[in-house]
Amino acid sequence: MISIQNLSFDYANFLALQDITVDIPQGSITALVGPNGAGKTTLMRCLTALTLPTHGKILMDEIDIAVEPHACHRMTGFLADNFGLYEQLTIEQSISYFAAAHGLKNDERIEQVIAQVHLTNKTHELIKNLSRGMRQRVGIAQAIIHQPKYLILDEPASGLDPEARIELAGLFKKLNQEGITLIVSSHILAELDQYANNLLILKNGKIVESGFDMNVENKKSVNHFVIHAANISLLYSFANNEMYEVLNTENDKATIAINEKYTLQDCMQYFMGKGLQVSEFYKETGNIQDAYLKTIKNA
Ligand code: ATP
Repeated sequence: MISIQNLSFDYANFLALQDITVDIPQGSITALVGPNGAGKTTLMRCLTALTLPTHGKILMDEIDIAVEPHACHRMTGFLADNFGLYEQLTIEQSISYFAAAHGLKNDERIEQVIAQVHLTNKTHELIKNLSRGMRQRVGIAQAIIHQPKYLILDEPASGLDPEARIELAGLFKKLNQEGITLIVSSHILAELDQYANNLLILKNGKIVESGFDMNVENKKSVNHFVIHAANISLLYSFANNEMYEVLNTENDKATIAINEKYTLQDCMQYFMGKGLQVSEFYKETGNIQDAYLKTIKNA
């Protein structure tokens, strides 16, 4: 787990991060979002021990990374926004170079990492000939060559076409299943929705929302369900309203909050008994985009 405690960062005359305290759960994929200038890159640089905070500390698996930055570097992979690659090298040479920088002389690991990012059939291709999506994957391979527990990616999807973004989302999910905890910043919220299960929203250097288990919207609406029925207006006419509260209706659809004492099945049985023509009944799920817009507007 990464524990960020009372973290502040001051660029001499500008307070970019203000008293940030939050935990990043082990095994999560955290979407780090916020408007331009919110402090995302600054936070990522602190998390990778490239910059020391002005106040506060970061514990990575209980290790204070300001005290032991090398331990942090061993545990962490980082892909910076606008990272550079050596254009004249091949993919294999490029990754071997990073492996050597980590003190690794393991050809098997190099092959394995190339396979992890799906570049096996491009091993001998020169970097200068690669598409943007492939370059991102080489960057990720370099960042994970030393098998880090944490992978921190600053705007990895920027400039990618939709197909490359989908591929990248799949790669993040796979790396996560292999045990890596990811922190990903992006302005493309719909894409983060596909793989993130933890949300951290920054604005003006402060956390305005954070939450595990998908997103803020889910956290706030654990007992909210959506029901579709041709005769939805009947919902209002039933006498037993201890079981649920109707929050809103729209056409043939309503959102209800079910009383904690009852289950979805209780409600379903009740509605069927009353003649409600239910065609769909499911838990309300929000998305990062909705949560972000609501939070940023109110912050
Ligand atoms: P973006 O989404 O545009 O990449 P961000 O959320 O990553 O933004 P940061 O790059 O962390 O934000 O910047 C946070 C704030 O700190 C901004 O107001 C920025 O202008 C300021 N800042 C960043 N680097 C420096 C610096 N070297 N000196 C002074 N201020 C800086």
